[in-house]
Amino acid sequence: MSFTFPQSAEDAEIEDIPWCQEIPPNLGPRAVDTRLNVSFLNIPLENPNVQNGGRSKPRICRAQQKIAIIIPFRNRELHLKIWLYYMHPFLQKQQGDYAIYVVEQIQNTTFNKARLMNVGFTEAVKDYDYNCFIFCDVDIIPMDERNLYRCSNNPKHMANSLDKFKFRLFYSTSFGGVVAFTKEQFLKINGFSNSFWGWGQEDDELYKRVMSAGMKVERPNQNIARSRMIVHSRDVGNEKTGNRFHLVKQTGKHMHMDGLNSLKYEIISHTKHQLYTNITVDIGSEKKK
Ligand code: UDP
Ligand code: MN
Repeated sequence: MSFTFPQSAEDAEIEDIPWCQEIPPNLGPRAVDTRLNVSFLNIPLENPNVQNGGRSKPRICRAQQKIAIIIPFRNRELHLKIWLYYMHPFLQKQQGDYAIYVVEQIQNTTFNKARLMNVGFTEAVKDYDYNCFIFCDVDIIPMDERNLYRCSNNPKHMANSLDKFKFRLFYSTSFGGVVAFTKEQFLKINGFSNSFWGWGQEDDELYKRVMSAGMKVERPNQNIARSRMIVHSRDVGNEKTGNRFHLVKQTGKHMHMDGLNSLKYEIISHTKHQLYTNITVDIGSEKKK
């Protein structure tokens, strides 16, 4: 399954239109109510330019970046609905050429968010010539359109000002929630570690990979990065990873053996829905590792 480009005469014409501006026009703060009662049926009506699979691109200009948005997922339908409701308009206003990938882990094994991210990257590159990958928790919604969901010269941390942490950076090396990597940056760090079964510190490990590879982390200004996290309790099947601090310490030694180059998985289904592409995957379990 792939996005062939150009797909139509209209698409071919689009190749002749001017490049989009680096900073899209008319961006500003917006209200976000994470308790909103959203109907799935209305979202496509309000986003007529979103094509099957959750893909869109600007009509009046040609985007510089081709963006795959990757969401790790299991059992969070309500959050996904709110995320889609707010994020399709947001990404279109930012003139993004993007598609949404919801990477869903099959039931009955401990959650492994980092492994799902690696699957999302590996599958997305088969679809289209993406040059930017944004890894997004399903429960984080930015409150300002100036927080550009784009890649930069270094890996970028968009969710650095969450309501949950009183709109401050939780700690100076935090690097979770929403992060953006160019293809080269993500390959350079060999993706995420596959070893974090359960909750916690996979984002600290990712930060260490970035540092070990000689890159920095960029963060947009905290006023612009203000975001809401939908309030939730810890999910069943995502208990704290027992050896998580030890794993972070091992990063330098392990990162070139544990990541994209050691990833194993089995695709259960790859389905284009109206608002997103769902990739359901069996990533194994801790014992089988
Ligand atoms: N997640 C999920 N189902 C789960 C556990 C986690 O979909 O059972 C995904 C979801 O995208 C979520 C992200 O993993 O936003 C991070 O997990 P969590 O929200 O529990 O982390 P925290 O809120 O502590 O940062
Ligand atoms: Mn969360």
